[in-house]
Amino acid sequence: MQPNEYDIIIVGGRVTGAVLAAYLGQNGMKVLLLEKDALPSPHPFSCPMIQAATMAMLDEIGAPESEYARHTPPIHKMIIDDERMEIPIELPYHKGRNYGYAIDRARFDKALWDHALRLETVSGIQRFKVNHLLWDEQGEGVIGVTGTHLDRGETARYYGKRVVGADGRFSIVARKTSAKTYDERPNYPTTVYYSYWEGVARHAQGEATSIAYTSASGEFAYLVMDSADNTTAIVVEGRSDIVAPSAGMVDEFYNDIITLHPAIKQRVRNARRVQPVQGIKRIGNLYRQAGGKGWVLVGDAYHQKDPIDGQGIYDAVYSAKMLAQGLCQWYHHQLDWDEMLHQYDEQVRAHTYPQYEATLQRIQGTLYGTLNPALPKSLLRGTFRWIAKDRVYQEITGQILNRQTDPQATLKPSFLMMAALRGSLRELSERLEP
Ligand SMILES: Cc1cc2nc3c(=O)[nH]c(=O)nc-3n(C[C@H](O)[C@H](O)[C@H](O)COP(=O)(O)OP(=O)(O)OC[C@H]3O[C@@H](n4cnc5c(N)ncnc54)[C@H](O)[C@@H]3O)c2cc1C
Repeated sequence: MQPNEYDIIIVGGRVTGAVLAAYLGQNGMKVLLLEKDALPSPHPFSCPMIQAATMAMLDEIGAPESEYARHTPPIHKMIIDDERMEIPIELPYHKGRNYGYAIDRARFDKALWDHALRLETVSGIQRFKVNHLLWDEQGEGVIGVTGTHLDRGETARYYGKRVVGADGRFSIVARKTSAKTYDERPNYPTTVYYSYWEGVARHAQGEATSIAYTSASGEFAYLVMDSADNTTAIVVEGRSDIVAPSAGMVDEFYNDIITLHPAIKQRVRNARRVQPVQGIKRIGNLYRQAGGKGWVLVGDAYHQKDPIDGQGIYDAVYSAKMLAQGLCQWYHHQLDWDEMLHQYDEQVRAHTYPQYEATLQRIQGTLYGTLNPALPKSLLRGTFRWIAKDRVYQEITGQILNRQTDPQATLKPSFLMMAALRGSLRELSERLEP
């Protein structure tokens, strides 16, 4: 046994790494979590929406909602606002909850880290940056990591039976292993900017909401979410060639775009920004090779996608759960390593792929407007208005957000046509009401 040897070393200690560590720790595995940031710290590029389905998985590891969602208002209703009408989407019940949260990512990630480290067999080091992987000289693959304790400037080596990359979209584990990329979709790139505000006027009914606004031109998608400590997250997303501020002009650009929307302009008139504007350009959409000799990827390191549907944290937690199950089977000699990788890859792909396709189609259809280029935009917007008015469509949308139904299987053309018909009749009857 080498000094500093662990069953599993996890590089990256935010949501995916911490959740995986907790699952493995519950099963008695000796785990080391390595994280280059000091927690709590704001996530460099992530907004905050989580749904009941994600929280149900967090319940399985006993993560305390009272900590990760401290001082955060539950959101029972999401609203789609296209400047002419508001479509309410009630969040459906899922394992005892009918609400989500626009969490504070700094608080959320820290609560999950603390929770994992309460387990006897889990240890963790913050401000440790992994620089390289250690390889076995007999060709047995990855056997550990080397890196730097950022505060002390010292380098150190840690050995593990396996190394997991839970280190996000720019994963060093993926880079050092030259992990292959699959199903990459670079054709419809988007860019996102966001910040947190205080003093944003609540929606007319006064309750906490998450509102997806679209601009009249269809060029921008906005998300305004009531978050922790009476703050509100305001996000704008658009095509990367349009959302392209000049160097040094990000704040002005962000302020100009969000106040282009009349409803948002009205809501921020007495508000002030309380965090720097953060953003990410040309967001990646891809899967990576799940793993190889001695290593495996999970969370965004394994699968990343456009955030317009706010499903990244769900997918990250789901992949951590599936990997934990596989690692336990491998640890107890029920599967060999290659079988484990194959099973994990298949399970996560089967569960996440339909949502991935749906998200990409939405980007193409809304921000790029290229799904039906032959049809005039006004006709598409009118048809969408009818669809969105349909109560069945509204219910299904809530279930899709909560991952209770497969968007590809449900939102078929025949369903959408019927929804448009019902919605148009509903609009007609509303107009005829005295
Ligand atoms: C703009 C934007 C908005 C989003 N909004 C939402 C949303 O509303 N809802 C939602 O569900 N999802 C959202 N997502 C997706 C979500 O943020 C990710 O899916 C999620 O954060 C993935 O978690 P992760 O733990 O896999 O990776 P990360 O959260 O990226 O964590 C990886 C960690 O690894 C650490 N790390 C990296 N390299 C090293 C190294 N060399 N050594 C040590 N540590 C290292 C990093 O410091 C980081 O803390 C959004 C994403 C973007 C880009």
